[in-house]
Amino acid sequence: QWIYLDGEFVTKENAKVSVFDHGFLYGDGIFEGIRIYEGNIFKCDEHLERLYDSAKSIDLVIPLSFEEMREVMAETIRRNEMRNGYIRLVVSRGAGNLGLDPRRCPKPTVLVIVEQLAIYSEEAYLKGLRAVSVSQRRNLPDALNPKIKSLNYLNNILVKIQSNLAEADEAIMLNAQGYVTEGSGDNIFLVKKGVVYTPPCYLGALEGITRLAIIELCEKLGYKLKEEPFTMHDVYIADEVFFTGTAAEVIAAREIDGRVIGEGHAGPITLKLLEEFRKAVTQDGYK
Ligand code: PLP
Repeated sequence: QWIYLDGEFVTKENAKVSVFDHGFLYGDGIFEGIRIYEGNIFKCDEHLERLYDSAKSIDLVIPLSFEEMREVMAETIRRNEMRNGYIRLVVSRGAGNLGLDPRRCPKPTVLVIVEQLAIYSEEAYLKGLRAVSVSQRRNLPDALNPKIKSLNYLNNILVKIQSNLAEADEAIMLNAQGYVTEGSGDNIFLVKKGVVYTPPCYLGALEGITRLAIIELCEKLGYKLKEEPFTMHDVYIADEVFFTGTAAEVIAAREIDGRVIGEGHAGPITLKLLEEFRKAVTQDGYK
């Protein structure tokens, strides 16, 4: 396995980062998770745009141009002969001293890992997941703004721990006002009386690239889509609920906080969107 690290391709054993890297010391950095379908990087530019926007927001200058980064990703895929898998792109503030000050970190660390993806079983896509709502609130504005895909995922990890304790597969996060925002690492949608709903991202959700692809697919398929706030009540009484994300694609929830959702398995609109999404992914890529 070849890993791109600061201008070089190194083996997994040699891919080492300083203990003084502020990504490690403080979670000071940003990342992206991207899919490779049939050798194509799905929504490459959308992911890179989000990466560069996140960097700008935390005042981090990525030492590679957009085009260079695209080429580095493509080369990492080629070297690993990966046709279907996952790319993890990380840019951290780089090595400094023990102080917080980013001015002490002259050189950001850039790494690209491509790997096989451990995803849900095909059965899970039909059966749906068990999910729980959790007490952690999705942080808003400032540094933990969900729009910034930063290395500070502690909140999401606490959410995961809470859902693990409940033996659930996925968690649902609310914001401080009690509106549903997203899953632990996925966006959320529900279907009620044939209409598809997803919360606006300003409530506290990452602007998911899969989310946007699904919104576009809804338009294409003629489903009415509304971006509007909803609460757990709306989730419980929905006909269908599903999550979207780079790794998960489109996956239903069959049970949430002990309530059976719809028929208790993936519903027809969820499955149709998954089918169409999977058709689209191989056509919309960067080689
Ligand atoms: N929400 C969070 C918190 C995430 O980490 C992710 C994954 O990147 C998503 C949503 C889904 O976003 P995307 O579809 O771009 O993978």
